[in-house]
Amino acid sequence: MTYKIPILLYHDIESVDCPNEKSNLASKETVVDVSNFESQIRYLSENNYETISINEYFRYIKNEQKSLEGKIIISFDDGHYSNYKLAFPILVKYGLKATFFITTNWLNQQYHLTSDQIKEMIGNGMEIGSHGLTHNFFPDMNSHEIKFELSESKKILESITKQPIHYIAFPGGHYNRTVLRMLEMSDYRGACSCLQGLNSKKTNPWLLKRIEIRKSVSADQFKHIFNPLSIAFYQMVDSLKSLTRRTIGLNTYSNIRSRLYKYYIFKR
Ligand SMILES: [Zn+2]
Repeated sequence: MTYKIPILLYHDIESVDCPNEKSNLASKETVVDVSNFESQIRYLSENNYETISINEYFRYIKNEQKSLEGKIIISFDDGHYSNYKLAFPILVKYGLKATFFITTNWLNQQYHLTSDQIKEMIGNGMEIGSHGLTHNFFPDMNSHEIKFELSESKKILESITKQPIHYIAFPGGHYNRTVLRMLEMSDYRGACSCLQGLNSKKTNPWLLKRIEIRKSVSADQFKHIFNPLSIAFYQMVDSLKSLTRRTIGLNTYSNIRSRLYKYYIFKR
């Protein structure tokens, strides 16, 4: 069976001495405790997983000779301060790297990354991508607004990193046909969604799938998240979610999203 590559998705990491901005319990579900995060990273390291960037992933996809076997991508959305303060030193300690998708309007704000922290992370092998300008959901915008979000966030990140920014993760994981069409016409090369699953040469480069790691994932569950049965389960959850989204509309859906997760994901 062809090896398919997992892209893990984290948001905020927390510890007692690194508080975060999440005040309500529902959004706390996305905040992973630092000791859990470290044991997950240690597991990947001890089991010889090699982390690659999204950029390297696309190079592997193009090159038939190279195998993706044993490779994994770690990604973070939003640009939280904890990504630098807590996650970054752990990644360095275990010799792993990650891709950080940054919402540029939040840069240098309380609880978020600064430009200097991003530069330091890049200097240590981390990859930076865009997570939009405002974190407003693209399907709620007109095409001019989407275009501005795509190009402006890219421009800001390129001026900080002095590197081309080729990849984006959709805020809230939300996209529609207009967004995908505009990305195809842009300088971007790929996009991460919140669709659950693994990636292969056949995966749409504008809809890379990810596996979201939430607070409630135990060490034992983490070890099993890459097996095909779990993936089939995630895909079923996605179908349920998109059906719900179509039925009740995006706004209402976003409000109850955390509840859906609570019941469907990792609570088998
Ligand atoms: Zn986000």
